[in-house]
Amino acid sequence: MNVLVTGGTGYIGSHTCLQMLEMGYTPVLLDNFSNSKASVLDRIEEVSGTRPVLITGDILDKNLLVETMKRYGISAVIHFAGLKSVGESVSEPLKYYSNNVSGTLCLVEAMSECNIKTLIFSSSATVYGDPSTVPINEGFPTSATNPYGRSKLMVEECLNDFYKANPDWSITLLRYFNPVGAHPSGKLGEDPNGIPNNLMPFISQVAVGKRECLNVFGGDYPTPDGTGVRDYIHVMDLARGHIAALNKVGHSKGIHIYNLGTGRGSSVLEMIEAFEKASNKKVAYKMVDRRPGDVAECWADPQKAQKELGWYAQLEVEQMAIDTWRWQSNNPNGYHD
Ligand code: NAD
Ligand code: UDP
Repeated sequence: MNVLVTGGTGYIGSHTCLQMLEMGYTPVLLDNFSNSKASVLDRIEEVSGTRPVLITGDILDKNLLVETMKRYGISAVIHFAGLKSVGESVSEPLKYYSNNVSGTLCLVEAMSECNIKTLIFSSSATVYGDPSTVPINEGFPTSATNPYGRSKLMVEECLNDFYKANPDWSITLLRYFNPVGAHPSGKLGEDPNGIPNNLMPFISQVAVGKRECLNVFGGDYPTPDGTGVRDYIHVMDLARGHIAALNKVGHSKGIHIYNLGTGRGSSVLEMIEAFEKASNKKVAYKMVDRRPGDVAECWADPQKAQKELGWYAQLEVEQMAIDTWRWQSNNPNGYHD
């Protein structure tokens, strides 16, 4: 089965492509390299023994999409391509609406033209806004607190409307919690541009000596140790979730929504501790003010995915820290080497 994977050289896309190759799928990657490096392909080939097809291009280029879908006989699309920096989305909102919303609409139009009716979309727990309680299930109300989150929510709403008019499609919205970790080979991992916004890459850059000190955003939340609690999910588990979705609901008509999380929350201090243990390094940190827009606690109720997809997250925070450290220490400059 040939599957178009937009954003296939990115962090989550690359891990998913690798697993797809192992499971006998043929991923066709399409990426504009706005946030990834071509050498990811070498790494995928090193680990899997196969070099997947790569199309360099943009999801806003409909002709290219149609041509690619036809040429490679694509029968389903996994759509990772998108911009994901919350801060940047506040200063450059149009870039986010154009890339994430218009880009997805363009992709769906191209799929329609090619009669491809299976789509898996990368959504996010950010669509739950500031949840009133935890754990969060798929029936919770949705809202957005920044343009990035709004772009994800808008895509979800557009796809809902599109599905109502096209009920012979299978559209799956996967709401990821906090993806972390790396491939166990240490050859694939997260390689953020510039100063990392997210906790795990920041911690690992402190441990490897690239940054001096982690700012812990808020020590006065109503949580057991006062720091923010999140549901960190290993990228290998997350990648598996896409394949489970493709296998289980990729051919059932409907709009399918699943949380992909572990159902367990960890605090910032717990993540630091796990990382220090995995790396045998001290992670210098200082408590600073809360980061605007952050919520105290956010973790998933992942039962729906377990029941319907037979998928559940298997890897613990300890493994996430071990694999992140292996990737970071083997590749201190990410894919730049
Ligand atoms: P990433 O930036 O590593 O990967 C996204 C890929 O898409 C990159 O390779 C980038 O070059 C490509 N891309 C961006 N715009 C494109 C365009 N217009 N045309 C073609 N390619 C384009 O990000 P990731 O962490 O792998 O995230 C994948 C998806 O999952 C994104 O849609 C993101 O919003 C979503 N998501 C990520 C997280 C997270 O914390 N990493 C959480 C929830 C949801
Ligand atoms: N965090 C932090 N310092 C950082 C980055 C993040 O203390 O440099 C905290 C943040 O306040 C939140 C948690 O780590 O409680 C996860 O943040 P991240 O940005 O990784 O993911 P989010 O859940 O905000 O999408």
